[in-house]
Amino acid sequence: MTTHSETLFARAQITIPGGVNSPVRAFKAVGGTPRFINRADGPYMWDVDGNRYIDYINSWGPMVLGHNNAKIRQAVIDASEFGLSYGAPTEAEIIMAELVSKLVPSMEMVRMVNSGTEATMSAIRLARGYTARDKILKFEGCYHGHADSLLVKAGSGALTLGVPSSPGVPDDFAKHTLTVDFNNLDSVQAAFDEHGDDISCIIVEPVAGNMNCIPPVEGFLEGLRGICDHYGALLIFDEVMTGFRVSLGGAQERYSVEPDLTCLGKVIGGGMPVGAFGGKKKILTHIAPTGPIYQAGTLSGNPIAMAAGLAALSQLAEPGFYDSIFENTKILAEGIRDTAHRNNIPMSINVAGSMFGLFFTDVEHVTNYKQAINCNTAQFNQFYHAMLNEGVYFAPASYEAGFVSKMHTIDVVDATIEAADRAFKQITAK
Ligand code: PMP
Repeated sequence: MTTHSETLFARAQITIPGGVNSPVRAFKAVGGTPRFINRADGPYMWDVDGNRYIDYINSWGPMVLGHNNAKIRQAVIDASEFGLSYGAPTEAEIIMAELVSKLVPSMEMVRMVNSGTEATMSAIRLARGYTARDKILKFEGCYHGHADSLLVKAGSGALTLGVPSSPGVPDDFAKHTLTVDFNNLDSVQAAFDEHGDDISCIIVEPVAGNMNCIPPVEGFLEGLRGICDHYGALLIFDEVMTGFRVSLGGAQERYSVEPDLTCLGKVIGGGMPVGAFGGKKKILTHIAPTGPIYQAGTLSGNPIAMAAGLAALSQLAEPGFYDSIFENTKILAEGIRDTAHRNNIPMSINVAGSMFGLFFTDVEHVTNYKQAINCNTAQFNQFYHAMLNEGVYFAPASYEAGFVSKMHTIDVVDATIEAADRAFKQITAK
């Protein structure tokens, strides 16, 4: 039963555009009524009608410890006893910067912000200001938040300048953004052959998580590093999704490639609205107040957010923390794929740490955007709703990565695979 969600959705649409504060929540891609949630704990969320779901969105990434983690909750309660915001420096911000530097050593200096969008937007301004170049290079299918320069898709020819992917983004901004193919170094080299002296930075999701889940092919990240070094451009890893998720030190640790700048979000806030960017000291000192490149935030480094983030990171840093999550993510994705195959449904999977992707396709190993968007969306949508009815909550769009938390124990994973079997049987029976 979803009566209460339906009522709330109808009411929400009167005063909130589309009834939601972030578009994908509206279920537009999969159809049906978005579930209004009023409680979450461990691997589960409950909607306002009392339905329980095993949650593989995990707030789109932050909840690597599972929902309602007791230590994070207590840290937030404790911090709130002393006031909610000061707009003045606190020791917690230093502890956070020191911890991030220790866990992600390429981040010699760290600036806190309030979202992933702010982190990427600020890192790009810094890269442009530092190099005194205007162009940036990004990859089709990668998402870096909704700043103007980043809401740009490829033009019609391989090497045309970018075109806005949203009304409201001026062509004059978009023309500074070059968009090339993920996992394709030739396309990157071609862009640098033509515009190398004007490109300030490459920004990349080192594991793409916004076109389903696509890890880098061997040599791709190393190749980007080499091209940046050759042309004097900065390499920015957008680790908003992968930071503290694909390993404690993020994708840069997992794949042993060091960027100049790193963007963080999601996990670093433990569920509070937080982002961060940082990198080499010689670059970070160029932002205000030590340098001329402007960047600021009324609530940046907020004491409650710092308390939540520190409580999260300190638990992740415990030895062996990631072992069971990585193991269970693999069991989950392989289990669902094998079950799909047993039901004669084509599927391939990608796994990177605690991120996974399910692709309804014959392609054995999906490595690029074209393959990702050519998957069977209709079949995914059927699967999505069948799983929702089974009490399993995946991202309501086929182009999103899935996330596993520490609380997704093997029992929860097994229950999910059994639910998937029933869902596939419903699909094939139609
Ligand atoms: N970068 C990446 C890789 C993301 O996945 C996201 C959000 N999903 C962002 C940036 C933007 O973060 P936020 O939604 O916190 O602004």
